[in-house]
Amino acid sequence: MSNLLVTGGAGFIGANFVHYWMKTYPQDKVVVLDALTYAGNKANLDPVAENPNFAFSHGNICDTALVETLLKEHQIDTLVHFAAESHVDRSITGPDAFIETNIIGTHSLLKAAKRVWLDEGLNKENHRFHHVSTDEVYGTLGPNDPAFSETTPYAPNSPYSASKAASDHLVRAYHHTYGLKVTTSNCSNNYGPYHFPEKLIPLVITNILQDKPLPIYGDGQQIRDWLYVEDHARGIDLVIKKGRLGECYNIGGINEWANFDIVKLICELMNAKFSETPELAESFPDAQKAQQGIAQELITHVTDRAGHDRRYAIDPAKSNDELGYEPVESFASGIRKTVQWYLNNRSWWQSVLSGDYQI
Ligand code: NAD
Repeated sequence: MSNLLVTGGAGFIGANFVHYWMKTYPQDKVVVLDALTYAGNKANLDPVAENPNFAFSHGNICDTALVETLLKEHQIDTLVHFAAESHVDRSITGPDAFIETNIIGTHSLLKAAKRVWLDEGLNKENHRFHHVSTDEVYGTLGPNDPAFSETTPYAPNSPYSASKAASDHLVRAYHHTYGLKVTTSNCSNNYGPYHFPEKLIPLVITNILQDKPLPIYGDGQQIRDWLYVEDHARGIDLVIKKGRLGECYNIGGINEWANFDIVKLICELMNAKFSETPELAESFPDAQKAQQGIAQELITHVTDRAGHDRRYAIDPAKSNDELGYEPVESFASGIRKTVQWYLNNRSWWQSVLSGDYQI
């Protein structure tokens, strides 16, 4: 039995991780610490809110005293760190919040974990600090370069990826210097339920449902490696249970797609949905182009993002070989589930878009 502290558990991946963990390990206690920034939504945790093994703390990871109190009060043995500023575009227009949360915030958690677990001796032998990071720390790839492995040198290109890279180094240093029991996972792009509609896949789905333009940066040939969010949660589970201390594990499903092709695929899926389910036209009267089977006409090219990385791809050989990691969802099954989730959960994304989900 474990007691988990999950930072950023009201965000996209954190919330999916909490749902996964409480379903898989119902005896474990899960405490979420989240500042509920624009990206955090307490409603993402509604499915577990009434579970007696669940608790929510509204607070900032930079508040080291609060983190220490939570570690002691709930006898936490496993800290899973998702909290971050995560949107690359926002890091270009306002990098300060990224430095504050992703670097200072991660260091605040490490200090609290060291003080409580190592200096004060609570769970001295049996603790784990798992840090959730990204493939973006490795920089960008050319079309024929081999995929990122755990030994690829770090070369972050955006303030977001640079701040995540810094946090990865701090986590490593706390293991090397103080003996804190840490692991890190670097994952590729996630998609699935509860994904904030400023990110590509939910943006395209919700814009089609509102008959709004589908913006494509530049030529749309930027390549990303997509993983269904629950498969990311499964990977983190394996790293926590079987990963070697101080090690980093890349998590991915060998699923590279150009942004333009993803947008076209979602258009085709939405056209087909509206054609095979006539009632959708009544539920989504604004979705005129999808009703006519021509959602792709909403595609609009916009000026490319400054310093836009061209290609990311994950080599998951280490997590496959050492941990037996394999994703469960294919891209075909995962993207269908995702489209259906947004069709079934209109009130969720409408409240996110209108901003009235914030406390
Ligand atoms: P998100 O933006 O959806 O959620 C971040 C959460 O952290 C929100 O709930 C927010 O309220 C909370 N938060 C932000 N600042 C905080 C602070 N100072 N104190 C406490 N809580 C704070 O992000 P996400 O997409 O779910 O990503 C989660 C983690 O996974 C991040 O560390 C990100 O770098 C990493 N990651 C994301 C992806 C992806 O495709 N989204 C891929 C690989 C890795």
